[in-house]
Amino acid sequence: MRKKIVAGNWKMNNDLAETQELLSHLKMQLVKEPEAEVMVAPAFTNLYSAFQGLKDTPVQVVAQNMHQAENGAYTGEVSAKMLKSIGVDTVILGHSERRAHFGETNEILAEKVNSALKSEMKIIFCFGEELADRKSDKHFDLVAKQLEESLYQISEADWKNVILAYEPVWAIGTGETASPEQAQEMHAFIRKNISEKFNDEIAQNVSILYGGSVKPANAKEIFAKEDVDGGLIGGASLKAVDFVEIINAF
Ligand code: PEP
Repeated sequence: MRKKIVAGNWKMNNDLAETQELLSHLKMQLVKEPEAEVMVAPAFTNLYSAFQGLKDTPVQVVAQNMHQAENGAYTGEVSAKMLKSIGVDTVILGHSERRAHFGETNEILAEKVNSALKSEMKIIFCFGEELADRKSDKHFDLVAKQLEESLYQISEADWKNVILAYEPVWAIGTGETASPEQAQEMHAFIRKNISEKFNDEIAQNVSILYGGSVKPANAKEIFAKEDVDGGLIGGASLKAVDFVEIINAF
């Protein structure tokens, strides 16, 4: 069954004290049993304390990235095994900022996807077109290519550990949001594409989140769309009151 999910991507924000403060506000404001699954992705340095602090809550802690190798000479990197050893079993992969600033190609992302799933981690796989792709009407082709080259090598059984996050690059951190209709159109396309490559059961059961300038003011309208199962939230997840309002938008 498809799940409703709201995940906060904190990016490179918040030191340890700030992380703890934000989490304590979140805990205070969050209803006991939110309708959506709630996830937060603090920086690597704060994952362990966040995990410990959220143990008795419905909030899950996820990582923003991982390296594809199991271990070895990869200075500065973190593996799936390391994340799992501190209780973190979900990782965001393919965020557009990783693609743009750290050279993560579809090929590298396929390796990361395979490595995470092999380690029995769940993934939130991000993808989406740039503004130029949309302007030249190539957005569907581009998204299909990203999925084909990084994700479609997985087995049917692996899909239970996959969450998708469609994030048009032109809407991330820009204040520019895809309209609910644009989000719905792309999400329906993604489901159809998965149905053709795998089967309809997988396509209907995978959660597809929308990401790109989701705020309390627009969350309800976006989440109301049939094929939108929640959101990956950047900026607005850094303020507990806004994040909680978005979670409650279902
Ligand atoms: C993101 O970084 O995944 C994101 C959606 O950011 P924002 O909500 O700030 O656009």
